[in-house]
Amino acid sequence: MTELKTGGQHGYLRIATEEAFMPEEAIDLYAEVLDGPDPDPGFVSLWGFYLRSTDERSRFIRESLIDLGARRLADMDARGIDRQIIALTAPGTQILRTDKAVALARLANDQLGEACLAHPDRFTGMAACAPQDGAEAAKEIERAVHKYGMRAVIINSHINGEYLDNPKFYPVLEAAEALDIPIYIHPNTPSRDMIRPMLDVGLDGAIFGFGVETGMHALRLITTGTIDRFPKLQIIIGHMGEALPYWMYRLDYMHRAGVKAGRYEAMKPLKKEKISDYLRENYTITNSGMAWEAAIKFAQENLGIDRVMYAMDYPYQCPAEEVAALDAMHMSAADKKKFFQTNAERVFKLDGQGAG
Ligand code: MN
Repeated sequence: MTELKTGGQHGYLRIATEEAFMPEEAIDLYAEVLDGPDPDPGFVSLWGFYLRSTDERSRFIRESLIDLGARRLADMDARGIDRQIIALTAPGTQILRTDKAVALARLANDQLGEACLAHPDRFTGMAACAPQDGAEAAKEIERAVHKYGMRAVIINSHINGEYLDNPKFYPVLEAAEALDIPIYIHPNTPSRDMIRPMLDVGLDGAIFGFGVETGMHALRLITTGTIDRFPKLQIIIGHMGEALPYWMYRLDYMHRAGVKAGRYEAMKPLKKEKISDYLRENYTITNSGMAWEAAIKFAQENLGIDRVMYAMDYPYQCPAEEVAALDAMHMSAADKKKFFQTNAERVFKLDGQGAG
């Protein structure tokens, strides 16, 4: 095993669980969408900027996203990251026409899979898929897991304004459940129907729109009874659970009241008593982009110490000071090790990958 310069001296390894990449080929596919008829406004806002901006941060992001070798490893060493759990960046395949989406998923899995095989002590992959074609997506997830040992599925939130509770996407949920791997629901810019009042004031991206959109996606899976239908499903969401832990009290109260009053046709009683029961039993969150001790402790206390994992959000947000701030959290050594290392080892089944 490679000698690591990283978290070991603190008594834990640092496993960063929401780290991004993209095949270089996606650049042309995205440019085609941007230049095509009536492109998605969120996509224009996000990738219209990152593909074409000449500012230094954008260039760093573009160059880092497409690297799965020496450059990424050097960035990990410099920031003290032992292992990255890597996924195809948003919106991944989900902005593309189905045939192109299927091809990009396969390409992404081959590139990421080979990199994971080349650096088994540093990289772990999440499987990409094209949920637009549910049956094909299930096959591709299975291929990525069996051929490359991928340990999760990445879904970059809404699929052209549709969500995983739509039965057309059930094959993806079935595949994850059958393979016993979690689904990471990563943010995307809000859909065409949702984005308008955010876009005109610049709140559509990571600053706020991502969290609103993805938090709602995660919540829909509970309230629509989708988790009841796939009770073994484990979902991961980043950015401190896209604010859901902070909402738990009101979610529980208003869900109970809404069901009792029969206010919404689509809001039915659930198998578990409360929304928060699902959050505590079917969801794990990461602190990507939120190096904030108070929020991390709140989530640990209210979701459970085993339900909160470390993430950096490389290359979008990766200052070394954030790692130092998290190392310095006032937290027992045992809890800090769960946060940085052992929760991720359990959730992604990293035994035998040299992580421990
Ligand atoms: Mn991210």
